[in-house]
Amino acid sequence: MPPPSQPAAFVERVLCVLAHPDDVDFGSAGTIAGWTNAGTDVTYCIVTDGDAGGFDETPREQMPVLRRAEQRAAAAEVGVSDVRFLGYPDGRLELTLDLRRDISRVIRQVRPQRVLTSSPERFWDRIGASHPDHMTVGETTLRAVYPDARNPFAFPELLDDEGLEAWTVSEVWLGASPRADHVVDVTDTVPQKFAALRSHVTQVSHNPDLETFVTAWMADTAQRFGLPEGRLAEAFHVVHTA
Ligand SMILES: [Zn+2]
Repeated sequence: MPPPSQPAAFVERVLCVLAHPDDVDFGSAGTIAGWTNAGTDVTYCIVTDGDAGGFDETPREQMPVLRRAEQRAAAAEVGVSDVRFLGYPDGRLELTLDLRRDISRVIRQVRPQRVLTSSPERFWDRIGASHPDHMTVGETTLRAVYPDARNPFAFPELLDDEGLEAWTVSEVWLGASPRADHVVDVTDTVPQKFAALRSHVTQVSHNPDLETFVTAWMADTAQRFGLPEGRLAEAFHVVHTA
């Protein structure tokens, strides 16, 4: 296999498309903090409100409101202020033309050079990473990147009714991928990542070991990619889509 070509050193705009509030923070918040600290504008598009998540007696109808607020607070910890929600039902996502259109709309609005999403591939060694909603969002986002968002004749209502011009995304970064090929040293932004994770109170407040297990996970990633002892990392499969 040829060595993968490197992603761009700097991009102006990044769009992160994830299924649930907190998905972006577990796998990618350290990387995102590095981008915003360098001056990149990052937008989050969260497809569901995570209304099937949580662990306590919180009334279910309050969950979407709470989880949107938690995701906005988490975003602020890593320098992200533009957080959009598509409001699809948690746990029941399917790959539909409606979802392709809705993600294509956000791509054309934001015009990102880089999109971060979850892997559409099942991770056989770590089945919990492959929630069906995650794989659905990954596959749908890739279909929106190519061909929908760049094809002016795909979903013509986006151009005709909303004036959204076609847009070509150059890179897609896939999280929780069984074929991760790009490592990001996040040691310096880990405090921001933990602040973001702690913002998801309905999800993590029952887990006193959260930082221990996330740290072990990032140390393992760093070691796997040959980073020096004591470093922490997040890893992605980078796909060149220009
Ligand atoms: Zn999730």
